[in-house]
Amino acid sequence: MTVPTTVDVLIVGGGPAGALLGCLLARRGIEVLHVEKQSSLERDFRGETLAAPSAVTLRRLGFDAALKAHGYLETSSVTMRMEGRQVFTIDYAKFPIGALPIDIPQPALIGIFQQAARAEPTYHYAASTNCTGLIEQGGQILGAVLKCSDGSRVEVRSRLVVGADGRFSKVRKAAGLEATITPMGRDFLSFKLPRPADWGNQAQLVVNQDKHLVVLPTFPDFLRIGHNLPKRGLGDVRKEGFDAFRNGIAAIDPRLRPLLHEFLTSFDDTSFLEIFTAELDQWARDGLVLIGDASHTVTPILGQGVNLAIQDVVCVAPVIAGALKKSHQQLQAAEFDAFVADRKAHKAQVTRYQRIQEAALGAQTPFAVRARRARYSALNALPIKYRVFGKVINAPHPIDPVDLRTGASESAVRAAA
Ligand SMILES: Cc1cc2nc3c(=O)[nH]c(=O)nc-3n(C[C@H](O)[C@H](O)[C@H](O)COP(=O)(O)OP(=O)(O)OC[C@H]3O[C@@H](n4cnc5c(N)ncnc54)[C@H](O)[C@@H]3O)c2cc1C
Repeated sequence: MTVPTTVDVLIVGGGPAGALLGCLLARRGIEVLHVEKQSSLERDFRGETLAAPSAVTLRRLGFDAALKAHGYLETSSVTMRMEGRQVFTIDYAKFPIGALPIDIPQPALIGIFQQAARAEPTYHYAASTNCTGLIEQGGQILGAVLKCSDGSRVEVRSRLVVGADGRFSKVRKAAGLEATITPMGRDFLSFKLPRPADWGNQAQLVVNQDKHLVVLPTFPDFLRIGHNLPKRGLGDVRKEGFDAFRNGIAAIDPRLRPLLHEFLTSFDDTSFLEIFTAELDQWARDGLVLIGDASHTVTPILGQGVNLAIQDVVCVAPVIAGALKKSHQQLQAAEFDAFVADRKAHKAQVTRYQRIQEAALGAQTPFAVRARRARYSALNALPIKYRVFGKVINAPHPIDPVDLRTGASESAVRAAA
């Protein structure tokens, strides 16, 4: 397509954050150009778990029918097994949020957002279009430079550039916004296996000493399994050979042995993820704001990445819409102060919990392993476990979100119901 060269908002990145924002802004009649460097939405081993608050949000935003038409899987609970014993369970139905986490492939979710966006005349989408730099003058971001699918270079002017370009954000770098990158102690290798019919819908953490597996029921009929590796240890794991790797997994969870031997046949069936967190002091400049992984990369623990991205979007969309209405200038960084403060608090809470959990999972000495098991067993017996976990996985929206179809605030919608 020929990209428009002047728009209200240019969104860089076609992940869940960029796709939902494009849709919500276009629903409000805002002229949006949304660019994605990949030619297709296909992406495997990406966030497929949608935490319950996001499931609620998407229903409120009118996506329920499309989600149901595609199909998804509801996760009933999370259990932890340590050294062969089940020590901890959280039943998701016991949270008062009124929804369960759902599992849906990321391409499907993004496709649902895009389909809704494409129904709006002010939404323009360009695939195979790479943002290669920003246009800056007098300290303000005025737009971006794009390399289009036909190889041409186009300058697009916009009153706001949104960097939704993920954990290695080029927009962030081009804007000179510094991220503090903190590597986690271990990395992750993921793969999928067919899910046995009687497996159930619980997410499971299977821990043995300092090794663990995250075993997630995945739509439509898979198990998505993540295995921790020593930091930058992929080379060593490969050197030891595929059989040793596969036998190591089976030793952690012997139930998987037959499936592993039948369906996991080489390292090509696996996907590597380097685990780190990224934190930024500043998420916005005049004419630019970052959302999703570009502004706050978290770890895969408890599958919060997509949730944070979606909550960013529902919080920032009304801010952008309001600021565009207020003046005809570039959107000023100060417009985003409250948004950034609120979203940072949510992200910090998630990261804090993930660090505690990661430290527990990395326990190595026999004493630390026993103490960990005792701690989780004790916590399991206490109803307070729902308060502790609920604070992280079901954190309420920090800003009263707005029904973006009608423009009414959610409290007004509830009051009218
Ligand atoms: C292996 C793995 C497993 C995960 N599992 C989970 C999970 O179960 N649950 C969960 O909630 N989260 C999970 N996450 C995290 C989750 O995928 C991310 O948090 C989420 O996708 C962030 O969405 P985003 O839109 O901010 O960024 P992304 O999804 O990363 O999207 C960014 C997009 O920007 C595009 N882009 C990058 N640079 C440019 C450029 N210069 N120009 C144009 N486009 C560009 C990229 O191609 C990409 O499509 C996982 C992540 C990984 C890698």
